[in-house]
Amino acid sequence: MRDFKNVKRVVVKIGSSSLVNKDLSINLPVIVNVMENFKNLIDKGIEVVLVTSGAIALGMHELGMSKKPSVMALKQACAALGQAKLMEAYNKASEIYNLKVGQILVNHDDFQVRKRMLYLTNTLDEMFKQKIIPIINENDALAVDEIKVGDNDTLASMIAPIVKADLLILFSDIDGLYDKNPKLYQDAKLINEISEITEELNSMVSDSSTNVGTGGMITKITAAKIATSAKVDMIICNSNRISNILDIINGDVIGTLFKKNEIGITTRDHWLIYSTNSCGAIILDKGLINKLSEKKVSILAKGVTRVTGEFLRGSIIDVLDESGKKIAKGITNFSSNEIDKIKGLNTKEYESVLNHLAKKEIIHANDLVIL
Ligand code: GLU
Repeated sequence: MRDFKNVKRVVVKIGSSSLVNKDLSINLPVIVNVMENFKNLIDKGIEVVLVTSGAIALGMHELGMSKKPSVMALKQACAALGQAKLMEAYNKASEIYNLKVGQILVNHDDFQVRKRMLYLTNTLDEMFKQKIIPIINENDALAVDEIKVGDNDTLASMIAPIVKADLLILFSDIDGLYDKNPKLYQDAKLINEISEITEELNSMVSDSSTNVGTGGMITKITAAKIATSAKVDMIICNSNRISNILDIINGDVIGTLFKKNEIGITTRDHWLIYSTNSCGAIILDKGLINKLSEKKVSILAKGVTRVTGEFLRGSIIDVLDESGKKIAKGITNFSSNEIDKIKGLNTKEYESVLNHLAKKEIIHANDLVIL
């Protein structure tokens, strides 16, 4: 048995392959089933958030397409069309159980810009107060590479900490994570519980994106990293039984549980690592890299050997070692141009090079997170 009796808020993610039939038409019984199970959860006093895919697939169906379009604008048009169909189905199904659903569409920017993340949090809080079930998808109609999250496993794991969920359930087309690919090996065993996401685990999983969805096991492991480091338990289980949700809450051992990291990291560090894209990077010399591996210290120009990308003061940048390995991320006090001029110099020498000196640290230790 697992102990989920104190769970008060759950984020559930369902992928396109679970929501559409082979011909990409909508699978209404699944949608109704989701709402029925949500009703049961709500009756038990548990709040739910749904992260749903299916917009692009349904749009493809409406336009009579069988292959995912590669042209961005066409994909976006499919999403605009399909998202409306998707919500229509959820809305109708919710009425059967006297539930209210509301749609939220987001892109990466809504997490990256802290002010926008706050607006998102406030809206979601109010929806809980008004007993409206948030149904969230990426805003695929406007998503382009620079601003998209990219897949809904990751999106769900970014939503879970924002709504302070206790549990994230990712429905998949398999029972959970296996020790080897179950499609290739008959003796593959389902892993019940994972308490640490190791390099070995990362290299074990192979991607298995489908024609309709984006997520494979790799995106699920990424999602697990994001959720568990924000102290949210995560389970991957099979969508062929939507009532798995209730059984999971009741403690049944279903699917693969990724145990939350009890210590976790601060909300700000979590945001910096997982919700922000870097605008460039600085490369540090061995001495400073060694120092950082022992203790978090501020980065001064002396230890910087190179800078890549173009960015302004206040930007989020990566910190790399000489081999290009990313070792930290932080908020810079200098622009890329300024860093290029002062790299390798002592703090005292900065001033003669730059005629203004706001701060002496390139990245202050408080604005730095070691990965
Ligand atoms: N947001 C996409 C859609 O609704 C799906 C992304 C995914 O499959 O993870 O079609």
